[in-house]
Amino acid sequence: MNFLMVFVDGVGVGQDDPDINPFARFDLPTIDLLLKAPRDGDGRILRHIDANLGVKGLPQSGTGQATLLTGKNCAEIAGRHFGPFPHTATRDAIADHNIFRQVERRCESQAICSAFANAYPPPFFERVKRRNRWTVTTRCCLDAGVRIRNLEDLAASDALAADITGERLERAGFSVTPVSEEAAAAALLRLATKHRYTLFEYFLTDKAGHNQSFDEARLVLESLDRFLAKLISTLEPDEVTLILTSDHGNLEDLSTKSHTRNPVPLVVVGEAAPSFAAVESIVDIVPTIMDALKG
Ligand SMILES: [Zn+2]
Repeated sequence: MNFLMVFVDGVGVGQDDPDINPFARFDLPTIDLLLKAPRDGDGRILRHIDANLGVKGLPQSGTGQATLLTGKNCAEIAGRHFGPFPHTATRDAIADHNIFRQVERRCESQAICSAFANAYPPPFFERVKRRNRWTVTTRCCLDAGVRIRNLEDLAASDALAADITGERLERAGFSVTPVSEEAAAAALLRLATKHRYTLFEYFLTDKAGHNQSFDEARLVLESLDRFLAKLISTLEPDEVTLILTSDHGNLEDLSTKSHTRNPVPLVVVGEAAPSFAAVESIVDIVPTIMDALKG
């Protein structure tokens, strides 16, 4: 069984109020289906899980993502919620326990262990060289020796643009041919079929939340909905289990431009879904994946 994690930044479970919650305002057939799925059964589960991690204040991406990707409570380690970049106190946890490292210790050959699906443009590589400042996900790659994909991988349909289609890269002047959400989903599934664990990170949801923009939220969520529709309709549930989750709330409450303390959704689709029934917080996800891989 392989695992595909689609990590969607800044999505909590909010009130069913279309005045503040884009998920309640817009027609999103696949997202609605997933977020209103039966709690158990049909090879899928839905949980509303904790992202506050026993720490006061508003959750942040640096500690939230590090927790989500290590299975260690990095907010507790840092003594506070911190972000968007990793807190220095969590560097060892990320280096030793990030999921790419854990999967690598348990899989036969490095080529099939893990993939980080996002493609980065040249300025990213220049910037990290100059400033040595990594996001949580790229730091995990660096620490585990997982290759960070570039625009050549994207052109070969062997990676995904951060916005799914690549339109933003094209608009920014990069030589990129945008693809449909369906083509991006197919590319991601091909990667997931070849690797024990594949991660795709999508952050435009968090950005739309900070901008408190319903127009932006609609564009982002409709695109994400098409992408997820294709992923779920073509996923072979006995080969790949899809895990969809977030690091903290934000977009579900546009009355505030900050993050929220709402729970985040955990949707799991595929044969390993029942293993996730006991997950209560974002700290439980990596240990559950590792147990399922062991089994
Ligand atoms: Zn944010």
